[in-house]
Amino acid sequence: MNNFITNIIDNDIKNGLSIKNIKFRFPPEPNGFLHLGHIKSLYINFTLAKKYNAKINLRFEDTNPNNINIKYINQIIKNIKWLGFKYTKITYISNYFNILYKWAKQLIIKKKAYIQKIYNNKIYNIKNIENNLFLFKNMKNGKYKENSYILRAKINNNSPNFYLKDPIMYRIINKKHLFTKDKWCIYPTYDWAHGQSDYIEKISHSLCSIEFQHHKPLYDWYINKIYNKNFNIIKPKQIEFSRLNISNTITSKRQINILKKTKIINNLCDPRLCTITSFKKKGYDAKYIINFIKNIGYSKRNNNINIKKLELYIKKKIINKSPKLLVILNPIKLTIINFPKNSIEWIYINNKNYYPKYKIIPFTKTIYIDKNDFKDIYDKNFFRLSLNNYVRLKYSYIIKIFKIVKINNNIKKIYCKIYNTIKNNKIKSTIQWVSVKYNTKINITLYNYIYFKNNNIINKNSLNSINVYGDISINNINLYNIYQFHRIGFFYFFKKKNNIFYFKKLFFLNP
Ligand code: ATP
Ligand code: MG
Repeated sequence: MNNFITNIIDNDIKNGLSIKNIKFRFPPEPNGFLHLGHIKSLYINFTLAKKYNAKINLRFEDTNPNNINIKYINQIIKNIKWLGFKYTKITYISNYFNILYKWAKQLIIKKKAYIQKIYNNKIYNIKNIENNLFLFKNMKNGKYKENSYILRAKINNNSPNFYLKDPIMYRIINKKHLFTKDKWCIYPTYDWAHGQSDYIEKISHSLCSIEFQHHKPLYDWYINKIYNKNFNIIKPKQIEFSRLNISNTITSKRQINILKKTKIINNLCDPRLCTITSFKKKGYDAKYIINFIKNIGYSKRNNNINIKKLELYIKKKIINKSPKLLVILNPIKLTIINFPKNSIEWIYINNKNYYPKYKIIPFTKTIYIDKNDFKDIYDKNFFRLSLNNYVRLKYSYIIKIFKIVKINNNIKKIYCKIYNTIKNNKIKSTIQWVSVKYNTKINITLYNYIYFKNNNIINKNSLNSINVYGDISINNINLYNIYQFHRIGFFYFFKKKNNIFYFKKLFFLNP
């Protein structure tokens, strides 16, 4: 495995970096659930760690008490475990608040940081070192209101790089922190906390997505200010890779949270999202997703992936592993005139490569087929059941409409007749059916893309669940397996309750 990142690392080794000192980290902010984009970041970091036999920390960037939540921390840990990535240890930036504070004071003393006072919409920069230290201590001790004072790094207000225009290092947030509780009233910004945490943890290569490339000069500026040759022989180096975006759904924790706040989704496991939890709940195998990411590869340019690519990839993986079932989504009843009343014919089905190898389903005088497979007129371009068309019932008889009874133009009854000696070339198609008397009640969760193509317009009512009929072999299927509903798609069997079998559609794609 060689790519532009390993080239950088190999070059660092050539220039004297000991392989023992190579170390990585994966740094999520615990403000939401991990998604497909994070899988890319995880994959890159963990593959590199493996290649260089290096340590890798899972670091929670818990710098903003307004955003973080213990349930996100727990979920992130679970997700990473599910994906099979093994980190060296878990760390939290909040454990470094003391030293970050100390370093900030040193910057004030070196005149590399200053307090800015905001009062009546006017801004005052504090010049004197003693005053700065005094105000900074008061900020820390909760003497001031939010937004009344901030600490800024003194870099260059005329810099063309926004992040070098005297960036904010600390702001007042009067909120109890999950771990440090009431101890702090000031919290470090991402830029101030992130690189310094890399430094503290002796991370050699700090990988992040491309949007951070403009932060890099600031990253280096901060590191150079705190760098001490005597304590730490490596300066962490930021390396950017392309961000993964996917069509029709969203890869941003923040934006996913907005969907939740606005009640477009109820939870972060919603099957229309590309969160790891939603993948798991749809029965995706972690291996498949990781391999998909692996195939996308590394690059600096943004990856804009069409979601269909992921769906087709998953479909290819499961298509030969998912036993077929007969399910009717929109039932319409047929009566077979030349089949005896109250009689059952057991149909043996060779289940080919699947377990169980054989199954039996009952054929009866009345059956359901799907409304969409039926037309009450003759239509030579309709290749399903319409007047004068022969169709085959999957695993069973060839039928044709015999009579349709209508009252006030509403269909009241449909009679069909079995024909046994029709030549194959006369049969329009094979359609699914289930017995009216012997079937299994199932509930299926269906959904569509949450965003229309360009990710601008939300497809609001794109999730629903319906109760429908399935064939009785469903009574013997295994929980947490994927099944193919004949001519409908792929579904994950995730729950059985009160004799109802619950399935979830695997992806948006139709078969
Ligand atoms: P938010 O969406 O809330 O801004 P985020 O998606 O940037 O958050 P972080 O917790 O900041 O998530 O990211 C953790 C790591 O994952 C970072 O190194 C980040 O660069 C990387 N990452 C996040 N999203 C993507 C993505 N879509 N593609 C590749 N890497 C990503
Ligand atoms: Mg982010």
